[in-house]
Amino acid sequence: MANKRDYYEVLGVSKGASADEVKKAYRKVAMKYHPDRNPDNPEAEEKFKEAAEAYEVLSDDQKKARYDRYGHAGVGGASGFGGAGAMDMEDILRNFSSIFDGFGGFGGGGGARRTGGRRGANLRVKVKLTMQEVAKGVQKKIKVKKYLECDTCAGSGAKDGSSYNTCNTCGGQGAVRRVSNTFLGQMQTTVACPACHGAGRTITSKCTTCKGEGRAYGEETITIDIPAGVTDGIQLSMSGRGNAGEKGAPSGDLIIGVEELPHEYLKREGNDVVYSLYLNFADAALGTSIEVPTISSKVKIKIPPGTQSGKIFRLRGKGIPSINSYGVGDQLVEVIVWTPKDLNSEQRKMLEKLRSADNFKPNPGRGDKGFFSKMKDYFQG
Ligand SMILES: [Zn+2]
Ligand SMILES: [Zn+2]
Repeated sequence: MANKRDYYEVLGVSKGASADEVKKAYRKVAMKYHPDRNPDNPEAEEKFKEAAEAYEVLSDDQKKARYDRYGHAGVGGASGFGGAGAMDMEDILRNFSSIFDGFGGFGGGGGARRTGGRRGANLRVKVKLTMQEVAKGVQKKIKVKKYLECDTCAGSGAKDGSSYNTCNTCGGQGAVRRVSNTFLGQMQTTVACPACHGAGRTITSKCTTCKGEGRAYGEETITIDIPAGVTDGIQLSMSGRGNAGEKGAPSGDLIIGVEELPHEYLKREGNDVVYSLYLNFADAALGTSIEVPTISSKVKIKIPPGTQSGKIFRLRGKGIPSINSYGVGDQLVEVIVWTPKDLNSEQRKMLEKLRSADNFKPNPGRGDKGFFSKMKDYFQG
């Protein structure tokens, strides 16, 4: 006890120093002798502890008053310090963090610990789907080249769990204060520590597999579940399936762009599909039964006698399901009567006979409308 230095001397402040001055002085001394900056230096450790002890007394009005009156003897017992060396280093370091609130508060609100690495970039892929796949939904396995979390170090970048040092620059807080002079006076801001990028610690021994990056470029097969009813140009997103972050930072997202491949016969109109059925006019006039392709298979439909060009048959539920799973679209079969172009003389004679027949004169009444007026009726319900 007798050889203890004067607390004011330890912190380099005068007896009349304000609380703020004491705090600033403590920070200065503590940073100088911080164990991270002075590894394996017992002398520095002693000075660091000495400063902490001096601060504990001088920052407390009651203890300070006793110290001013009785010297070390006045605070020896009450402060809980048995003497130099008895203080727990862990406690000092923890207190040091909480005293400098700008440090202690940094990163506390965000939840996840800052790892010092950057978040992984989003990854964009394109998936081409057939109409069958759009209608049913599909599971696609795709191979992507991307940054993957390093297996060896589980993304930390450190050789093993203990290969860390508290960052020298920020003393483990992940943040440093910047003081800038503005016309309003000195402005203090807290910014991420430039040395450790907010991690508060540095890796002493890097993982040999990833060289400390925590990730490595590689290939991954990703299974993507694509719901039924997606449309061309839609973007699906899989959270956290993009590039792995650096040193255990969060991964980016996988963004899946959907592209629809054209169908050989069917055209998509919203959730409906349209098929153009070409009929020769004999079939249209006499009626027939004919197979038409649908998304999943083929369906036989009956063409009644006297079917007009432009007639639309509706195959209910043969379209594409709504992505919100409310209902399924229909298949519309649109009749187009095909006019023959190359007639032989016999056919020409037959048609010339028919041409003058009374019932061959067009007579568009109700139900015999052209395509556009039918579509108009259809869309108007
Ligand atoms: Zn690694
Ligand atoms: Zn740092």
